[in-house]
This record gives sequence, structure tokens and C-alpha cells, in this order.
Amino acid sequence: MTLDSTDLFGDVLDRRVVPVLLPMPAPRGYSYVVPDRMAVEPGSIVQVPLGPRLVVGVVWDGPDDGTVDPKKLKAIEKVFDCPPLNRDMRTFLDWVANYTITPPGLVARMALRAPTAFDPEPMVEALRLTERRPERMTATRERVIAAASDGYSWTRSGLAHAAGVSSSVIDGLQAQGVFETVFVPPPPVVTAPDPDFAVPRLEGPQRQAAADLLTAVEARNFSVSLIDGVTGSGKTEVYFEAIAATLRAGKQVLILLPEIALTASFMERFQDRFGAKPAEWHSDLAPRTREKVWRQVTTGQVRVVAGARSALFLPFEDLGLIIVDEEHDPAYKQEDRVFYNARDMAVVRGRISGFPVVLVSATPSVESRVNSEIGRYRPIHLPTRFGDAALPHLGVIDMRRHPPGRGGFLSPVLLTEIGRAIGRGEQALLFLNRRGYAPLTLCRVCGHRFQCPDCSSWLVEHRFRGQIQCHHCGYSERMPEACPECGTLDHLVACGPGVERIAEEVERHFPEARTIVLSSDLMGVKRLRLELEAIAKGEADIVIGTQLVAKGHNFPMMTLVGIVDADLGLANGDPRAAERTYQLLSQVTGRAGRTGLKSLGLLQTYQPQHPVMQAIVSGDAEAFYEREINERERAALPPFGRLASIIVSADSRQDAEGHARGLRNAAPRVDGISILGPAEAPLALIRGRHRFRLLVHGRRNSDMQSFLKAMIAAGPKERGSVSVQMDVDPQSF
Ligand code: ADP
Ligand code: ZN
Repeated sequence: MTLDSTDLFGDVLDRRVVPVLLPMPAPRGYSYVVPDRMAVEPGSIVQVPLGPRLVVGVVWDGPDDGTVDPKKLKAIEKVFDCPPLNRDMRTFLDWVANYTITPPGLVARMALRAPTAFDPEPMVEALRLTERRPERMTATRERVIAAASDGYSWTRSGLAHAAGVSSSVIDGLQAQGVFETVFVPPPPVVTAPDPDFAVPRLEGPQRQAAADLLTAVEARNFSVSLIDGVTGSGKTEVYFEAIAATLRAGKQVLILLPEIALTASFMERFQDRFGAKPAEWHSDLAPRTREKVWRQVTTGQVRVVAGARSALFLPFEDLGLIIVDEEHDPAYKQEDRVFYNARDMAVVRGRISGFPVVLVSATPSVESRVNSEIGRYRPIHLPTRFGDAALPHLGVIDMRRHPPGRGGFLSPVLLTEIGRAIGRGEQALLFLNRRGYAPLTLCRVCGHRFQCPDCSSWLVEHRFRGQIQCHHCGYSERMPEACPECGTLDHLVACGPGVERIAEEVERHFPEARTIVLSSDLMGVKRLRLELEAIAKGEADIVIGTQLVAKGHNFPMMTLVGIVDADLGLANGDPRAAERTYQLLSQVTGRAGRTGLKSLGLLQTYQPQHPVMQAIVSGDAEAFYEREINERERAALPPFGRLASIIVSADSRQDAEGHARGLRNAAPRVDGISILGPAEAPLALIRGRHRFRLLVHGRRNSDMQSFLKAMIAAGPKERGSVSVQMDVDPQSF
């Protein structure tokens, strides 16, 4: 007779207790009992009772902390029939939680979905040919049997279609036992890409670039490469080679793209190269589709995902490569709940699992440039545009010398060029990174300015909708006719331009032209996709758009790009402003001249000597980066130093400021780390909440996380309306 542990220890001591991470802001997992005969392991996705609710959680590593009397614990309700989060994924989630100072459950939540995603999809009924043959053979029956004799199972409709018969023929055969019913897994969301579907002939500098990249990728261990090359130089084609190599090695691939919902053209290019589309992952997917994609990524059915930043938290079965396209893009930074930069966390994920990561940009972030200069990242350059496409000729329009006409914002120089471009049957793009009609409305009689009641920001007029809106909280009201302050009618004036106002000006000058305004507030993603396609087909003459138009689109007939206000992003005093403006303007002007046509990019500016304008016009990116990097180094700003921003908000100004001061006073004294503030945050009031900011600056090698944790632990507790947001490596500082 063998004794099992139940006999030895009795049922209480033997109860297996495990920590389960729940999607909530708790510092660690909650303890649950594993019922007899239930098999769980670290990473298992489970359903557990929490108060009156059932919630999805994941069994975590390490022993239970044993602080709760096991008799009081509840039991795990159910283990889902899906692969557990593997060790690398759990290490990654812990790492992100620790780095961003976020409760681990909130990070794990990004890897989980609704419970319906976890149970396998029901099997699908299908037909398979048996050894039996029909008593009487007919021509149609013969066709069915021929079609089905490939050894695979078929759906009834699929087989009828393939054999060109009606399904009653198949019913007849089934009745005679020629077909048997089998149950097969549901069809994949996407068919598997084929690395050898359409291998391109790489040309010129692409060959060396691809060879360099493949050396890194085929080593199959952790490395970071930075592909740095002008727009249209063939970067995508080069990293497709890395994808092909990874697919041949039997590994999954993740491609991160900013604004994925708008890059239908990318999906098509991928299909042309690999014969099938990648699975998409972004917030505009229907919930059912998301669940399917999630499941098929965990089972390995999906081989390639193209996704927004959140795709980084998909639990891939066997991920072997991450590409981060447009790695400099601010869209990679999430500033909500978990504050993380997907570009940086992609590198972390590659390091944990030991696979290569490839960053791609025409205008790399200063951080990545520095990393490639010091040899931490492998630099891969593509200096020229592919084929006979030439970069647009770029110039500035000095607005002091060529001012716009009364009430306008477009210089006569730009208007002339627009006329020329559309006269040749080509397209012009006017870029202004400002939605709506005018950023500020005021009363000419009493000077009243329309301000948001809940935020420290002006209300923006949206004339197409007849509203004024707050761009921070969404507050809106009908555009009034009279001033609410002095009551005077018809003396409200719009100050400054938004895209709607530029459209009005364009229509005044070019009444015959077909004009399209592209702005996220005017249309949903579906409409935008259609408009982008229409533009690519030449169904518009003049496009006026916000930064939506900057990314990844290929407009073959676009030969003129005009930047309405090149100075716009430079004014806000942020040390990153020059870098951001340079990146955005390069990207927008890069929309021009994607084919052999001669093209022109013009920047309207009041500061033609500004280093950003000079860098763009001269094409001398090196000088610009060198200057930026030197300035950062001098001020010990990232990547030469470390920063974290702590925003304290509360319903009252006093509470917010008081709490921020309390945190500052509680901070430990650490050599090399200093705190600035508290000061009013750049937006001092949002949605009625007052905001104060502490900026923590550390030397490059300082342990920022330990410092911040110690400060929070020693500081005042979050009480009442007070809330604290930590942003490690903030975007603006
Ligand atoms: P980037 O990603 O640097 O902007 P792309 O990879 O989009 O550049 O290439 C620009 C254009 O050149 C695209 O239309 C692409 O199809 C084409 N192209 C690039 N490399 C090749 C190649 N080796 N053979 C054929 N066409 C290519
Ligand atoms: Zn507001």
C-alpha cells in the first residue's frame, strides 16, 4: 500500500495554495486553493471568485506568501483550456511592472482577454472520403470523389464548390457511406505566410543592408539592429528578408506599426511578398476577431502579427523576431494606466527570450541613434531612395518676406505651387497639425476668450460641426452667436488656423479643385481608409490633413507637400520639441515624390534659420543629430541621464500640491538623483482635476525604480481624490 500526502497530513495542510494575479492594482497575486484533481501550473489562465464576481487571472510564480489562513481561501473555479503564459512571458510582464512601477496585475491584464477568448473554438463539422465507393457512379459523383481524394477533410459547401456540383450530390454520397463526418479545428484567421512566395531582387545598398541584417537575425540570439534610411529607400523590403528568414526557422514574427488601422497598404504589400496577410492587432478590431487572433497566436496558428503597441503583450507561442517600424513614433508610448514605450519594451522582450529585434526609421529617435553610435545597436544604413524615385526638393518659405494675404494663412509662393501641381494633374498635400477651424475664439468687443470649464485650455472651433470643443476632455457646446460675457452679437473672431480654415482658404483660391480634409474628428477609421484609397487613386487634387496623413501612405501622384506652420511644434519649450518637429516634418515631406515624378516640399516658417528647418532643407541629418545629441549630453538628458515624471492630481489644487510636496519631502537622499518641483503640470487642469508635477532626474546609472518606490512607500498615502501617476522615461519633459 502507498500512502499519499492526504493520508499523512490531512486535508487542510495539504491544500495546494497558489498566487493568482488578477487584473487589478494589487501589489502581488491573491491566494487561491487548487481543488483536488485540478491541474494548474505557473501561467495557467484561470477563473476565480472575487467577492460576488468571477474574474480571469493567471497563476503566478513563486510560493504563495502564506499570510492568509488557508481555511478562509476560496478555490479556483476553472482552468481554461488554452496554453499557459510561458516563462518568458511571465518574466517579461514582471519586468515591465517593475520598470514602469505599475502593479503587476495591471500589466498582466494587457496579456489577457475576455473569458470567451480562452476556451477553444468549437470544432467544425467536415467530410472525409472513406474506402467505400457508390453503387452507381455518375459524372457528378466522380467529380466530387476526385476533388475530395486529396486526403484532406472538406466542408460540405467547400467541396460542392470545388467539384462544381450541388450539395445534394454530396448528401447522396454521404448516405451511402462514401463520406464520413469528422470534426476539425476551425479555420485559421489568416493563412500562413510563405517566406518564398515572391522573393524580390534587392538592389544596390539594399543588398548589403539585407546581408548585414540577416547576419544578425540568423544568429538567432538577442541583438538590436537599427535600419536607418530615407523614406522610400526600401527599408520595408529589407526587413521583409528578416521576416522570411525567421519564418523559415519556424518562429513567429511580430511587426509593430504606429497607426496600424490606417495602413491597409502595408497589409497589401506584405501579401504581395508572402502570399498571405499578417493577422492584424489593434483596438479597432471586432471583439470576436480579437479573441480569435489572441487564441491563434497562443497556439501558433498565426505566424505573423502586424499590430499596434498593445500587440507586444500577446502571448506568442514561439516568438522569434520583433520589427518596430517608425521606431521614433510617439504613438508607441502609452500614457494611460500602464505607462510604457513599446519600442523599448520590445527590446526587453527580445533580450528576455533571446531573439533579434529590428528598429526601423527614416528619422530615428535620439536614443536609438546614440545606441547605434556606441555600438549597442547594429547600424544599417540605406542612404538613397529606391529606383528612380528622388527625394523631393525641399525649401523654406520665409513668411516675413512672403506673408499671406489678408485673412489668409497660405503664402502666395505656396499658392502658386499648388496651382502648378494641380494644373499638371498632380496632387498637393497641405499639412497642419491642428484639428478644427481655429484654436482660439475671442470676442472683439470685450476680449472674452472661450475656455474649457474643466481644463486649462482654449475651446477649439469646429465649424463643420457648428461647435466649440475642448481637445483634452471632449467638452463641447454649440458655437454661440453672441459673446457670453458682454452679449454683443456677431463680434466673435477666430484666431489662428486649423485644417478646416485652411480648406476654406484653398476653396476660395481653387474653387474647381477636388479638396479633401483628413482629420480624425471628421471621420471614423473605415471612412479614413476609404478616403486614403481614393487619394491614392487620384480622386482628389488637394488634401489638407493633420498628422494622420504623415504615416506610411503611398500617394503616387503627390508631388507637392506644403507645411502650413512648420514652427507649430517648436514653441512649447519641451527639450524634445526640435527632434519631434524634425521627425514629423521629414515624414510629411517624405509623402511627396514616391514615384519618378519631380516633387517639391515647402515649409512655411517665421524662423528659416532654425536648426530644424536647416536640417530638413539641407538634408543634413547628421549635423542635426550631432547637435541634438550634444545638447542632451550637456544637460544630462536621456539617454545620457534618466527621467521620471510624477503627476499628482486631485479635485482641489491644494490637495494636489500638498500631496506632491509630501512625496518630495519623503524622498530618500540618493547621490546623483534630484527632484524638480512640485510645479503646475504643463496642463494644470484636466477634466476638473488639478495637476502638479515632480520631475525626477537621475544620472545614467542611477537606480530610478528603487528611488521612486522608496519615495512612494515613505510618502503620504493616496487619500480622497488624490491620485498619483508615474511616468518613467516621459515623452515630454
Ligand atoms: P521605405 O520602407 O524605406 O519607405 P519601401 O520599402 O517602401 O521604402 O520602398 C520604396 C518603394 O520601392 C516601394 O514602392 C517598394 O515596393 C519599392 N522597392 C523597394 N525595394 C525594391 C526591390 N528590391 N524591388 C522592387 N521594388 C522595390
Ligand atoms: Zn476640457
